[in-house]
Amino acid sequence: MSAVRDVHTLIVGASLSAAAAAKRTVDAGLETVILERKELPRHKICSGILSPRGYRFLLENFGPLPREALHEPTSCRGVTFHFPCLIPLTMDFFGGTTPHLHRKYSDYWAIKRSGAEVHDRTSFVGLEDKGDHVMVRARSQGEELTYRARQVIGADGPSSLVTRVVYPDYPKQIPWFFVGQKFHDIVDCPLDQDYFHFWFHPELGHYTWSHARDGRQIVGVGFKRGDNFDARHKKVKRYLEDKHGVRLAGHEDEEGCAENFGPSLIDRYVFGKGNVLITGQATGFLNMIGEGMSCSLHSGAIAGEAVVEARLHGKPVQEMYRRMIASEVRRTTDQWNPLKIAFGRPHEADFPAALLALSWRERRLVVRDIWRFLLLYKEFNWGRQIGALALQRLVGNGYPMQRWL
Ligand SMILES: Cc1cc2nc3c(=O)[nH]c(=O)nc-3n(C[C@H](O)[C@H](O)[C@H](O)COP(=O)(O)OP(=O)(O)OC[C@H]3O[C@@H](n4cnc5c(N)ncnc54)[C@H](O)[C@@H]3O)c2cc1C
Repeated sequence: MSAVRDVHTLIVGASLSAAAAAKRTVDAGLETVILERKELPRHKICSGILSPRGYRFLLENFGPLPREALHEPTSCRGVTFHFPCLIPLTMDFFGGTTPHLHRKYSDYWAIKRSGAEVHDRTSFVGLEDKGDHVMVRARSQGEELTYRARQVIGADGPSSLVTRVVYPDYPKQIPWFFVGQKFHDIVDCPLDQDYFHFWFHPELGHYTWSHARDGRQIVGVGFKRGDNFDARHKKVKRYLEDKHGVRLAGHEDEEGCAENFGPSLIDRYVFGKGNVLITGQATGFLNMIGEGMSCSLHSGAIAGEAVVEARLHGKPVQEMYRRMIASEVRRTTDQWNPLKIAFGRPHEADFPAALLALSWRERRLVVRDIWRFLLLYKEFNWGRQIGALALQRLVGNGYPMQRWL
């Protein structure tokens, strides 16, 4: 057994949320170590479409992105929604294009710029909160390591082990999805390369997307865990060919992972316990159409700020974090709030304006298709909860904290 390493803030996962959290703690002069189970720079499955808010965060906190942190096409203009009625709805992002991130290099760049000390190829294994410090166990290439930290931040993504250690029953409390993508050589693709394409089609799956990357076309499918990836993908590929004239060659690469889609819709975030804060997608933060980078960056920064503020004011860090994170909860859950969607502008592209630009007949067909798509989610019983939360949001200034873990 090696010696214990003392550190003020220990962050698990060299992710974007980790970079944002570390930026705050390092800037405040707190010794910060990040553990990453993979070797850096590491691969991260992601479309890499960044929202304008996420882009602003990167620029303001880490500076201009290096070229290697971008895929081809290097930018994205916005999103096109597709429906069974075949009426496309194209929306540009507010404020212009955003970068198409190559996550392997963008995350590594942000992590380096945070100034934290990074221990890669080092997996978090477990922790024990002792009240005034946290003992953390990790493993690096067969060697057991021990850290003693004042605070721990779990920034370890959707299948977060930090979350499972703190709340062992949590994974059983939410539905799990699988998202997978295959990379195809292009024979002919009429889909506009400047946009991310998303299908509201109940027969294709819970989450269906396509976009161009580095000369190839990605076809992605998301569905409830347990279904067959190949069959789902084949169906979407055939649909794209039949309805959109997309002709693709076979694929060489494919990848997939588990996703905790759902907590943002119904305000069931998990923020940790005692001296252990959970942040990024591990908490359940996910914006509309699965955009998770901007809320990961912002929630990570808030976790880092909570650590700094708790130390300055001698307050319990968990209490501080929950108070401070309420603004990000509001912003993210508003994106799923039907009243906000109808009467506010919670998204970063103008969906109501795009809808209003259609004829009455087209609008009716699109709204009908969206409704049919939403029925796919009926089995999770989210509808009533979303409705109740939307009403509570009308009278209060946010969403109830009592629903958080
Ligand atoms: C197919 C797909 C497409 C997506 N497309 C987009 C998109 O276009 N735009 C967008 O904004 N979002 C997208 N997302 C979501 C986005 O990728 C995530 O929301 C975001 O990366 C979450 O960031 P994070 O900081 O919470 O953690 P992550 O990026 O998930 O990183 C977690 C890190 O923790 C490490 N880790 C995990 N366990 C341990 C451990 N035990 N010990 C040490 N390290 C550990 C992992 O290796 C990883 O480096 C997509 C997701 C998927 C799956």
